[in-house]
Amino acid sequence: MSNSLLLPDKDPMGCAIKEYFQKGKAAKLRVFSSQFDEDEIPVKHLFRSFEQMSALEQKALLLAKGKILDCGAGSGCHSLALQDMGKEVDAIDISPLSVEVMEKRGVKSVSNTDLFSHPAVQAYDTVLMLMNGSGIVGKVENMEKFFTKMKQILKPGGVIYMDSSDLRYLFEDEDGSFQIDLNGNYYGEVDFRMQYKQVKGNAFDWLYIDFQTLSLYASQYGFKAEMVEEGEHYDYLAAITFL
Ligand code: SAH
Repeated sequence: MSNSLLLPDKDPMGCAIKEYFQKGKAAKLRVFSSQFDEDEIPVKHLFRSFEQMSALEQKALLLAKGKILDCGAGSGCHSLALQDMGKEVDAIDISPLSVEVMEKRGVKSVSNTDLFSHPAVQAYDTVLMLMNGSGIVGKVENMEKFFTKMKQILKPGGVIYMDSSDLRYLFEDEDGSFQIDLNGNYYGEVDFRMQYKQVKGNAFDWLYIDFQTLSLYASQYGFKAEMVEEGEHYDYLAAITFL
C-alpha cells in the first residue's frame, strides 16, 4: 500500500505518462517484482479511450453514478470518459506528475491525494478502482483499513466498483492441482517496483484478490460484494456496496 504521496524523482509511471502526453510516445515503463520476470506496461495503454477499454471497465463507467471518486486515476482516462458522459467525478492519485497531466488533459477536479488520507466524509456515491484496482489495498491485512476509509468517504448505500484477478492460474499444475502454500502469505500479494529511463520508484505492495476472498472481507466490514462481470482470464469486476 502506498500510504503517502510520491516525489517526482520517485514517480516512474508519472514520468512515463508526462512524456507520452508531451511527445505522443514514450520509452519502456519497466516493471520488476521479486515474484515474476521483468515485465513492461505499454504507456499508450494508460491513455486508452472508452472504446479501447475492456468490457469490464466500460461496464464500471456506465454503472458509476452520482458523485464519483476515480481512485488512482493515472492519466485520467476513466475520469475523462466519465466527464464525456456528463458525470461528476473527482480524480485522485499519489503521483504528482500524473496529476499535472490530468489537469492539462482537462480533468476538472483533480488532486494529489492518497486514498488512505482522503479527508472526504460521506461525499461519494461511487468509488472507482480500475486496472486491478484492488492493488491499492496492497495486502489483505490492509482490508480493515481500506473498508474503514470507504465507510468514511462513501455515502450509505454507495458502491465501490473494483476490478481484480484471481492469480491462482499461476500456481495451477497441468493436472489441475494447486501449488499454493497455505501457511504462506495470500497468493495474490505481490511486490512491484517500476522504472522509467533513469527514474526508479520504490517497491510497493500490490494485491490481486479472488472474488470469494474479497467477498468475505467485504461482509466482515459491513459491505456486500457482488460479481458484476467476469473477464476472459480470471479477471472480474465487483460491485461492493456499503450496507
Ligand atoms: N486507473 C488508471 C491508473 C492505474 S495504475 C488506469 O486504469 O489507467 C494505478 C494508479 O494508482 C497509479 O497512478 C498510482 O499512482 C495510483 N495509486 C497507487 N496507490 C494509491 C493510493 N494509495 N491513493 C491514490 N492513488 C494511488
